[in-house]
Amino acid sequence: MAEKYAVVVIGGGAAGLSAALVLGRARHRTLVVDAGEPRNAPAAHMQGYLTRDGMPPAEFLASGREEIARYGVELVRDRVVEVEKDTDFTVVLAGGRTVRARRLVVATGLKDELPAVTGVAGRFGRDVLHCPFCHGWEVRDQPFGVLATTAASVHQALMVSQWSKDVRFFLHTVAEEDLSDDDLRRLAAAGVEVVPGEVAELVVEDDRLTGVRLADGTTHPRSVLFLAPRAVPQTGLLERLGAELHETPFGAYPVVDPTGLTTVPGVWAAGNAIGFAEQVVHAASGGYRAASAIVGDLLMTDLEAVARV
Ligand SMILES: Cc1cc2nc3c(=O)[nH]c(=O)nc-3n(C[C@H](O)[C@H](O)[C@H](O)COP(=O)(O)OP(=O)(O)OC[C@H]3O[C@@H](n4cnc5c(N)ncnc54)[C@H](O)[C@@H]3O)c2cc1C
Repeated sequence: MAEKYAVVVIGGGAAGLSAALVLGRARHRTLVVDAGEPRNAPAAHMQGYLTRDGMPPAEFLASGREEIARYGVELVRDRVVEVEKDTDFTVVLAGGRTVRARRLVVATGLKDELPAVTGVAGRFGRDVLHCPFCHGWEVRDQPFGVLATTAASVHQALMVSQWSKDVRFFLHTVAEEDLSDDDLRRLAAAGVEVVPGEVAELVVEDDRLTGVRLADGTTHPRSVLFLAPRAVPQTGLLERLGAELHETPFGAYPVVDPTGLTTVPGVWAAGNAIGFAEQVVHAASGGYRAASAIVGDLLMTDLEAVARV
C-alpha cells in the first residue's frame, strides 16, 4: 500500500520549503521530495532577501529544512519521475517509492542553459552573472561586459549601467543591424560601448575573470561578464498532468491563478516553476500562498463531504 499524505511538495527550494512550513503548521501530513539541485547553488551568497541578505544559499535551505522538521514535515532526497491523477495523486520517486497525495505543490524551479563560450560555465555565479539585483552591489563600479545572445540583451546592458559606468556590450552573435535606432540611442545615453564581433573565450587568471577575448584575438580587460542564460522551465510533470502552459520570452510556464493553482484541480505551482523572474523572496511567498490556499481547499472539501452525509 502506498503511503498517503495530504500534500506532496515536489522540490525543496525556497518555494517548496515555504509551502511545507505552512502545511506542517496547519497540521497536514506533508512530504517534500527534493532532488537537491537549487538554481542558485553556484552562488556563494544570496542577496536581497530582507533579514537574510548575504546568507549562503545552502545555509538558507538548511535552516528551512530544520524549520519544517519541527512540524513533522518529512523530506526525502529523491526525484519525482511520474505523477498520475485519479481521485487523488500517485507520485512515483526515482528511488522506487510510490506515495499518494490529495494535493500537489510543484516547486521544481528552472534550469539555466548557458551560452557555449569557453570559460562561461566555470565562472557562472562568480564573475559571470545573470542578475544585477542578485550581484550588482557586490561588483559595483568594476569594468563590466555584457554578452549579447539576442537583440533583447540590450535591456540587460542598459540595466547593469545602474551599477557601473564602465560597460562594454559584446554583440557576439547579434548583428549590429539588429539593434534599433532606439537601442543605439539608449546605449549611448547610458555610456555603454558597443563592441561588434564574436566572443571566443573568457580570460581567467588566478581564479578571476580578467578579460573577454574576441575571435579576432583582441582582448578587452573586464572583471565581470553579465549574460542571459536560456531559462529551461522544469514543467515536465505538470505537462504530463495536462496543465495548460503559456508562452513567455523566457519559456513556457503553467497558467496559474493568484494562489498558484494550475489548470489541473488539486495542483499548485510556485517559485521559478511559474516564472523566470521569481527571486527567492517571491518563491518563498508563492509557496506560502499556495499552501494557505491548499489548507482552505482541503478543509472545504472535507466539510462538504461531511455536510453531504
Ligand atoms: C547564480 C544565481 C544566483 C542567484 N542569486 C540570487 C540572489 O542573490 N537573490 C535572489 O533572490 N535570487 C537569486 N537567484 C534566483 C534564485 O535561484 C531563485 O529565485 C530560487 O532558486 C527560486 O526558488 P525555487 O524554490 O523556485 O527553485 P529552486 O531553488 O531551484 O529549487 C527547486 C528544487 O526542486 C528540485 N527539483 C526539480 N525537479 C524535481 C523533481 N522532479 N523531483 C524532486 N525535486 C525536484 C531541484 O533539485 C531544486 O532543489 C539566483 C540564481 C542564480 C542562477
